[in-house]
Amino acid sequence: MKNRKLKKSGRRDFLKISAIGFAGALAVPGIHSIASDDLFPGSLDGLAGQGGGFTPDPTGAANHGTVPVAGQSARYGFATPSSQSGPRSGSRRPVNRDRAGIALIGLGNYSTNILAPALQETTFAYLAGVVTGTMDNEKTWAEKYDIPAGNIYNYDNFDEIAGNKEIDIVYVVLPNFMHKEFTIRAARAGKHVICEKPMALNARECIDMIEACRENNVGLSIGYRLHYEPHTQEVMRLGQEKVFGKVLHINCGAAFRFNNFDNWRWHRELGGGAMMDMGVYPLQAARYVTGEEPVRVSAQTFVTRPGRFEGVDEATTFQLEFPGGTIASLDTGFHASFDHLYASAENGFFELRPFSQYSGITGRSSKGEISFPGVNQQAVQMDEDARNMMAGRPVRVPGEEGLRDMMVVDAVFESIRTGRPVNLAGLAG
Ligand code: NAD
Repeated sequence: MKNRKLKKSGRRDFLKISAIGFAGALAVPGIHSIASDDLFPGSLDGLAGQGGGFTPDPTGAANHGTVPVAGQSARYGFATPSSQSGPRSGSRRPVNRDRAGIALIGLGNYSTNILAPALQETTFAYLAGVVTGTMDNEKTWAEKYDIPAGNIYNYDNFDEIAGNKEIDIVYVVLPNFMHKEFTIRAARAGKHVICEKPMALNARECIDMIEACRENNVGLSIGYRLHYEPHTQEVMRLGQEKVFGKVLHINCGAAFRFNNFDNWRWHRELGGGAMMDMGVYPLQAARYVTGEEPVRVSAQTFVTRPGRFEGVDEATTFQLEFPGGTIASLDTGFHASFDHLYASAENGFFELRPFSQYSGITGRSSKGEISFPGVNQQAVQMDEDARNMMAGRPVRVPGEEGLRDMMVVDAVFESIRTGRPVNLAGLAG
């Protein structure tokens, strides 16, 4: 496989890179300028109300009621195109179809129960194909979603997808250890990529993925669905705009009691463990509430069921220190169920409980209820990604966002290993 030729380097090498600064790390190709809005002048034409072109949508919000974030910061908004993953001019995307064709790769729980149903509610994207390792899956999905045989691939013949004009975007929904390989193969096939969280096994892999997408002129988005969710967008605004003054302390946790011991999530080499699976949610929350990158990370892990799993973290607690002075105390695990986000600020508080579920997110602040109409997070996410990718615009949650998380996750594991805090001063910026 082509990507086996890619140079590999370990987390230790990457931490050396991070020590010279986050900006320096990203000088590794992976950041580039974004092409103009008229890259795909005829793309997605024929859409209701869009006339013959594709109207630029600065919020990126599709038609599911997503609330644009007033004053959204450069880090989480659509500004700063130079720091966003996206295709460059000259991309070989087919352009003259009503909707972008998405192929799901990895037909497990999330694809079957959440993404494929969400793709029945999208306006700008549709389920065009699947990639699976199982013959049974081929038949079931072909019948259920009317997918032509020519749009069904397996892991071996996947690269032939390059010649398929009906598929524009490959959505990688595989176990975490397979994210890098299939993102890079999809990029080399000339397809835009949406990759599930966590982006990869470590920051080094994320850089390789970003680089592959850049070299092949395709967009790369990470499946952080909460960025498209209005309550979440509101707490980003409350925190980043300091509506209640500076945020002093964040307490956030996402965990569930996991008893399926056959699952890949219990194997370290497959990208398992609570930190990788659920820990990225409180990590994300601390970063999007502050709008800052942590400068120091401490972490501890605990085992409540010894002997049941192979070297992955079962219950992890980690603390982040931000340059503006905010402290975040964060929890994750496979040992118990909880889901909450609480921010204490100089002049008040705000919270969401639950904060990371697919639906039912509710919140309040010192000023009262935080309430917005529910949205189908995944439908909004895929619609918005499809529109932006097909128009050559930056995406809301680019590969660099997944990379920033994995730099912190790497530091969490380093802190657990050494028993000491890890300085990440270079991350800021
Ligand atoms: P899953 O175990 O239900 O499905 C995994 C799929 O990968 C299956 O189709 C399986 O056949 C296939 N596969 C191929 N090689 C495999 C191997 N060696 N071991 C195990 N499976 C293999 O997983 P899932 O819950 O659908 O999660 C897939 C990805 O989606 C993960 O990265 C996960 O973090 C992410 N996810 C994201 C969300 C979200 O809210 N954004 C929710 C759930 C899962």
